[in-house]
Amino acid sequence: MAFTKLNPHTKHREFSGLPGAIGITIGLPILITFFALVTNETYSLQGINLDIPAIVAQLPQSKQAWIELCFNKSCWIVYLSWFFVLVGLDHILPGKIMHGVELRDGTRLEYKINGMAMSSTLIVLILGRLYQSEGYYLPELQFIYDNQLELTIVTIIFSFMLAVFVYLISFIPLRKPNGFKTNERVLSVNGNTGNPIYDWFIGRELNPRIGNWDIKLFCELRPGMLLWLLINLSCIHQQYHTNNGQVTDSLILVNVLQAFYIFDGVLNEDGLLTMIDVTTDGFGFMLSFGDLAWVPWAYSLQARYLTIPGNEIILGKFNLCLILAIKIIGFYIFRSANKQKSDFRQGKLNHLKSIPTKTGSKLLIDGWWGLSQHINYLGDWLIGWSWCLPTGFQTPLTYFYVVYFGSLLLHRQIRDDAKCAGKYGKDWEEYKKRVPYKIIPYVY
Ligand code: NDP
Repeated sequence: MAFTKLNPHTKHREFSGLPGAIGITIGLPILITFFALVTNETYSLQGINLDIPAIVAQLPQSKQAWIELCFNKSCWIVYLSWFFVLVGLDHILPGKIMHGVELRDGTRLEYKINGMAMSSTLIVLILGRLYQSEGYYLPELQFIYDNQLELTIVTIIFSFMLAVFVYLISFIPLRKPNGFKTNERVLSVNGNTGNPIYDWFIGRELNPRIGNWDIKLFCELRPGMLLWLLINLSCIHQQYHTNNGQVTDSLILVNVLQAFYIFDGVLNEDGLLTMIDVTTDGFGFMLSFGDLAWVPWAYSLQARYLTIPGNEIILGKFNLCLILAIKIIGFYIFRSANKQKSDFRQGKLNHLKSIPTKTGSKLLIDGWWGLSQHINYLGDWLIGWSWCLPTGFQTPLTYFYVVYFGSLLLHRQIRDDAKCAGKYGKDWEEYKKRVPYKIIPYVY
């Protein structure tokens, strides 16, 4: 295993190293499979008492039945078609070319940003299919609703295989333009331990690509995020066709709020180019599974829960407005705080108070960034609450998202604190004295 100047040996291991990597690789796929088993018409989740034997009884009881579940032909054909049609669209749809941050080999990768064209194409296709349909019945959406467990398994296996693929190609030297001293790929600073399982999990190569097509950026915002949208729509479709054309306000609200979040992400994809996922994290099982399986199947839990007969919730105008207000406040904090930092970094807000650092860049201690070190995380977390509250208080499981996302943000804050302490040294200590709260002002 070669560790070179370009790709130094990774010493620090995230998630407690190998045990954490193995735990997540086994645990999270089981969790989303569990979600599929408790949000269906056979076992409808109610309260906190889980009938484990009844849940497990839904799983195949023989080896043959397991094989049929994992390799369900029609689900594989549908999923592969979905994935590769999106790949094709990504290639042919127009977009603006943007550059990523400078990499350790001095290059800056080109990215095609075509989220707008992709979203418009998908919306036009869905509206076109609805217009053609008889009684607004779309077999594609029904297929998704009827095959949640099978499709969950397909996305897990596919993300596993994709992670193997990108791990293997990370060893193939790249042909670089003349003048480059090395033909090594740029690896992630976190994914070059030399332990194959850990590196496969965390992501060995920083930006795996086939030609100019960037696998990581594509997976972050296309097949999983848009599948999440389709799963949510399939829930409305199901309720509409089984409930005399009626759809509850709670299910509509979850759909609208999450669709807004999905399109906001897809339409602002250039923002991702400077985020830790693209600049620092390698693409391995963690991201592959996260993007392709976890996002669609864990984030759609609320809509799937609300579709099951018996779980319907009518919010009424007051509750609906209250939840909407939480969403608007959360989104306002999230968007304006991120914009303030980005504008400040571009030299646009020089009237705001800041402290200089020895690296040359300043740290903002005013406006949103005077309230806490990651006020934007608070906004994002409030958005998460607005997705869970429409499910009422019948079961804590539908609040899984805010617990999970809260832990993710806490972990991210710790990672970012370590990164900034390393980068800014004493200036970071000074910054933390001036802005003592980490996420929630006056609380934490
Ligand atoms: P931040 O947007 O908080 O960015 C942190 C970086 O900003 C630091 O590393 C530092 O980078 C710079 N910085 C920190 N403090 C200051 C300051 N006071 N003044 C100027 N620059 C500062 O974190 P993330 O990148 O983690 O998150 C970005 C957004 O993405 C957030 O809104 C978050 O909620 C969201 N998010 C969403 C997730 C999801 O799954 N939906 C997951 C994770 C994040 P530098 O080296 O440039 O100084």
